[in-house]
Amino acid sequence: MEKRGKLFVISGPSGAGKSTLIDEALKGLQGFVKSVSVTTRPMRKNEVEGDKYVFITNKEFKKLIEEDRLLEYASYCDYQYGTPKDFVEKEMTEGKNVILEIEVQGAAQVKNKIGDAYMIFINTPSMQILKERLNKRNTESSDDIEKRLKTAGEELNYQKYYDCIIVNNDYNEALLNLKHILKTQK
Ligand code: 5GP
Repeated sequence: MEKRGKLFVISGPSGAGKSTLIDEALKGLQGFVKSVSVTTRPMRKNEVEGDKYVFITNKEFKKLIEEDRLLEYASYCDYQYGTPKDFVEKEMTEGKNVILEIEVQGAAQVKNKIGDAYMIFINTPSMQILKERLNKRNTESSDDIEKRLKTAGEELNYQKYYDCIIVNNDYNEALLNLKHILKTQK
C-alpha cells in the first residue's frame, strides 16, 4: 500500500511572499500538491477560478460548514476562507504530500486534528518591508492594506506554534530553505 502523504501548513502575513515561494519550490519537487481553498473574497483581476481558490458565496460557504466538508476555516479581513476536506484526504491517501497555505487560526485547527502536520511560518524582515510589498503588488485597496497590516501584527504572535520560521529577506535563500524543509520533513 502507498505510504500516506504528509501535510504541510504554511502561514505568514499577507505580503510575506508565501505564494511565490511555494509555487517556485514546488516546481522542482515531485510528490507535492497544493490544496485549493474556497473563499468568499471577490476574485482579483489576475486570479483564475479554481487555480488557488474556488470563489463562492456566503451561503455556499455556510453550507460547506454545515455539511462538515471543511478541514478548517476562518474569517480573515472580512472574508471567509476554508480548506475542503475531500481533496486533502484523497491526495494524502494516494501518497501525495499536501501543502496548505492558510492563515494562523485555520492552521491551529489543522494542528489540533492532524498532530503530525509540519508547520512553517514565512515572515518578512520587518513591518515596514511588509507595508512596502503590499503597496507595491497593488492588488488591494489602501483600506484593505491597512486591515492586512493590522492582522499581520496579530499573526506574528502565533509564530511560537510553528515548527520552523523562514524569514523572506533574501528571496533565493528563503526558497532554498523552504525546498530543503519540504524535502527533509516529508
Ligand atoms: P488572500 O486574500 O491574500 O489570498 O489570502 C488571505 C489570507 O488567507 C492568507 O493568509 C492566506 O494564506 C489565507 N488563506 C488562504 N486560503 C485559506 C484557507 O483555506 N483557510 C484559511 N484558514 N486561510 C486561508
